[in-house]
Amino acid sequence: MLNKLKDILEKFNTKINEIETLEQLEQIKQDFSGKDSPLIPILKSIKSASPEERQEVGKLANDVKIEISTKLNAKFDTFQKNILKEKLASEKIDVSLVGTDIKFGTKHPLNLVIEEISDIFTEIGYEMVDGQEVEQDLFNFQNLNLPIGHPARDMQDTFYINDEIVMRTHCTNMTARMLTELSKQKTNEKNLAAISYGNVYRRDDDDATHSHQFMQIDGFAVGQKVSFANLKWILKYMCQRLFNENVNIRLRPSFFPFTEPSVEVDVSCFKCEGKGCSLCKQSGWIEILGAGMINEQVMELNGLDPKTTTGLAFGIGVERIAMLKFGINNIRSFYENNVKFLDQFKFYGE
Ligand SMILES: [Zn+2]
Repeated sequence: MLNKLKDILEKFNTKINEIETLEQLEQIKQDFSGKDSPLIPILKSIKSASPEERQEVGKLANDVKIEISTKLNAKFDTFQKNILKEKLASEKIDVSLVGTDIKFGTKHPLNLVIEEISDIFTEIGYEMVDGQEVEQDLFNFQNLNLPIGHPARDMQDTFYINDEIVMRTHCTNMTARMLTELSKQKTNEKNLAAISYGNVYRRDDDDATHSHQFMQIDGFAVGQKVSFANLKWILKYMCQRLFNENVNIRLRPSFFPFTEPSVEVDVSCFKCEGKGCSLCKQSGWIEILGAGMINEQVMELNGLDPKTTTGLAFGIGVERIAMLKFGINNIRSFYENNVKFLDQFKFYGE
């Protein structure tokens, strides 16, 4: 019986050393440790053996059983590790590979300027309004003190849709509309402050600084005691927020049909701090917008009483501000949709 046990172990050892697949291992497990194991008949026959033999055979049979089971487990372990290794190798991700870039769009520089200016004004109580680009002659011209045939209409070469409808030449059309709306309100005190923005159109030849379509921001505030001092304050406040807190402003008399008095507003050069540089053409000042007190005629034309209601107004060219702020020389860059150009504004304001 001892020899039989040794034979079994020897056979098992030979077989287990030869196996190559998991299936073969399963088979050996079945052959040597299952209910068909050759150890079973030997263990059964132990009962009839002498006590000495029983002890010796019993011990060896137990040792063989343990050895078989240990070796089988070890072999299964090795197979499992190999399987895992193969799986990992096949699913490996090379984190050092160059990834694919996700393209994000960027805000257009003109929108950045509009957002910045609208933030400045909405923070201090101005309403923000959009408006129609196709407008009645009435609101674009007549109610702004530019009656039909007025010579000042020539200042703005206009695209006419027909005799009564134009492509708006400025955002001031919204000022006329809002003043008219305000005049219909039943309150005695007429108070309103608003900013309108959007595209405007002029029959201009396009060049580096002119475009037939451009963007404006137009603002006004009307009330019982709105004064020229308020206008100066608001313009300086806006310039300091827009450029830097050290800039100053300078007002020069000018003419616009819808304001009286009218002023051109210069800001002290934010690049050279007034010393003179190429940006300010050595003058230390940069012209940035037009403004004034709303003309009494305009108040009356829109149904308001100029004796009780006064107002300030200003118009800003968005491209001009963007060109100054971002150092852009050609106005056409804004409309070409060149991704390389637009990408430069990716991190602005972050
Ligand atoms: Zn300068």
